[in-house]
Amino acid sequence: MSALILIVEDESPQAEMLRYNLEKEGFRTVVADTGEAAIQRVDVEIPDLVVLDWMLPERSGIDVCRELRARPETKTLPIIMLTARGEEGDQVLGLEAGADDYVVKPYSPREMVARVQALLRRAHPEAAGPINEYAGVVLDRETHKVTRNGTAINLGPTSFRLLEVLMERPGRVYSRDRLLGRVWGGDVFVEPRTVDVHIRRLRKALNGDGGADIVRTVRGAGYALDAGKV
Ligand code: CA
Repeated sequence: MSALILIVEDESPQAEMLRYNLEKEGFRTVVADTGEAAIQRVDVEIPDLVVLDWMLPERSGIDVCRELRARPETKTLPIIMLTARGEEGDQVLGLEAGADDYVVKPYSPREMVARVQALLRRAHPEAAGPINEYAGVVLDRETHKVTRNGTAINLGPTSFRLLEVLMERPGRVYSRDRLLGRVWGGDVFVEPRTVDVHIRRLRKALNGDGGADIVRTVRGAGYALDAGKV
């Protein structure tokens, strides 16, 4: 069955345009016009991806995003935040709230569809040799699960893919550009700062139980997995 996209947007012409373009590409869609309606809708059926407008009446998109991230069943649900704000700080705030990606309004429907497809690909990567292990961290591509010293670690699709790439060659330094290409794909434009935000999130998830930090920041160069740094 085709992926179900929940569109959370209070301006109905915008919602209809998005619905039209996503359905044209074969997606199923459902529209919620308030944050509360979105949460209720998710209670009925968890979608495969949410396109979430920031500016909503009453509850903001940020607030809805935080609530979805706080619930176990939607903790890793792919979310694209729609923002009318051009300031970089606001976009980072959207990512900090737990969104996987953001698109600034006004956007082209074609770009939005590309973003949706790219994020769904990250959420469901093809299996490529199922298990990778490094420094007590085990990544299983088939079950999409990560553990550290046997403890389960919840990662969103982008953090999972980021870890997957870093684990290919522990110790190797990956530049932000390289990570952008490997994790986000070359077909969408993503701010290099987005990599930093996702690295912070990955680091926080991996070190949640107080374990040693195995993600090394190489100033001016990029990031690497390195258990020898501590
Ligand atoms: Ca709006």
